[in-house]
Amino acid sequence: MIDHLDDHLHEECGVFGIFGDPEASEKTYLGLYALQHRGQESAGIASTNGQDIKLRKGLGLVWSVFSDPESMPPLKGTSAIGHNRYSTKGSTVIINAQPLSIECKAGKIALAHNGTITNAYELRKELESEGAIFQTTSDSELLLHLIARSKKDTFLEMVKDGLSRIVGAYCYLLLTPEALVVARDPHGFRPLSLGRTDGAYVVASETCAFDIIGAEYLRSVEPGEILVIDSKGLASHRMPPAPKLSFCIFEHIYFSRPDSLVFGEKVDKIRRRLGKQLAQESPCDADIVISVPDSGNTAALGYARASGIKYEIGLIRNHYIGRTFIAPHQDRRKLDVRVKLNPVAGVIEGRRVVLVDDSIVRGTTMRQIVQLLRSKGAREVHVRISSPPICFPCYYGIDISTSSELIACSRKVSEIADYLGADSLAYLSIEAMLQTVDDGSRYCTACFSGSYPTTVPVDFDKFQF
Ligand code: SF4
Repeated sequence: MIDHLDDHLHEECGVFGIFGDPEASEKTYLGLYALQHRGQESAGIASTNGQDIKLRKGLGLVWSVFSDPESMPPLKGTSAIGHNRYSTKGSTVIINAQPLSIECKAGKIALAHNGTITNAYELRKELESEGAIFQTTSDSELLLHLIARSKKDTFLEMVKDGLSRIVGAYCYLLLTPEALVVARDPHGFRPLSLGRTDGAYVVASETCAFDIIGAEYLRSVEPGEILVIDSKGLASHRMPPAPKLSFCIFEHIYFSRPDSLVFGEKVDKIRRRLGKQLAQESPCDADIVISVPDSGNTAALGYARASGIKYEIGLIRNHYIGRTFIAPHQDRRKLDVRVKLNPVAGVIEGRRVVLVDDSIVRGTTMRQIVQLLRSKGAREVHVRISSPPICFPCYYGIDISTSSELIACSRKVSEIADYLGADSLAYLSIEAMLQTVDDGSRYCTACFSGSYPTTVPVDFDKFQF
């Protein structure tokens, strides 16, 4: 499992679904376990035996929600969906845990969602003014209301009707007793892959969830694609295309596991290339390259290989911190970095160090790390970041809601270096970053460039209900 330091962006969710497997809920549990890094606030599984939908969810990590031996037997079925949540919309309360489940004229439906709906505020006000009663404070619930109110005849048409009202980032998994319906938004912000295991179809945010159950990767669910998986097999349908594809480049920089394929590309390879580009753009006269574990590891390897400077393990991470450190409220993040990281004195002492990490959000953690390295005798500390400065909020499923929390929003690079106490600081350029992927034009870079691929809420604070 990948933990998060407190000065990183956080992914909203991980989703997993399977259709046509007698061990559907057990495999969903394992899939969620592999996707734990995408959300640690709550976990849940909905399953069906072809008649009813059973649901179990709770606050906490996957293993703790399902630690009771009695929790899995009631979920026995042949199809299931699962969800790991990190709250960016709606607070951390059990009502917001997913999957959500309803019964309406379309029948029994369970829903799992990864992403953020940018027109959620307007849609919710509209639906409430028409008498809708919401069960949660999460934007994920909107699609269920839109499906329930649709006047179309078939479930697929109702889903399409609902999706036609929704703007933003989504990978939806909808489970009914008869089918698993999967939709990825036309911009393709968040990744979703399709696989196969023992005759069953599986979908997951990342392919590390396929590996853990021995499933074979087939392909990405395409942007704007709706898959209907039922007893007849798999059918693909399309929504109208977006003007521009906008895959989240941060999935490669930080969010996804390096052993995953996302957007059809190997995260590990791209992360190494980010480090290589960084070494070429911002070389450094130094003795060793070290990473901020675990997030900076792969890019640091790329930097070391390209620069010819020796890679060393200079910071040791305590992996047994627990979820206190990954809660979404900032005041709970102000815990000492020393609890999490400790420098290896014998590696650091008297050395000129290149310190590689994937990103800087507030700068608070990096500042403490630089101080730690100096306290262990580092002669120089040169910070290298394998992404450009983050200057703008994200509206597509990542927890940057205001520019004021971003250090690069208000300070020049030299000023940030001073704040960190670093001898030098360099970020990767947007151009070099986009050269690391197959086709850079398909990616969103809004948090670096301010160029948003959709209309964004005028007042994002208002958007938080
Ligand atoms: Fe990803 Fe940044 Fe775009 Fe958000 S704004 S989707 S974090 S690239």
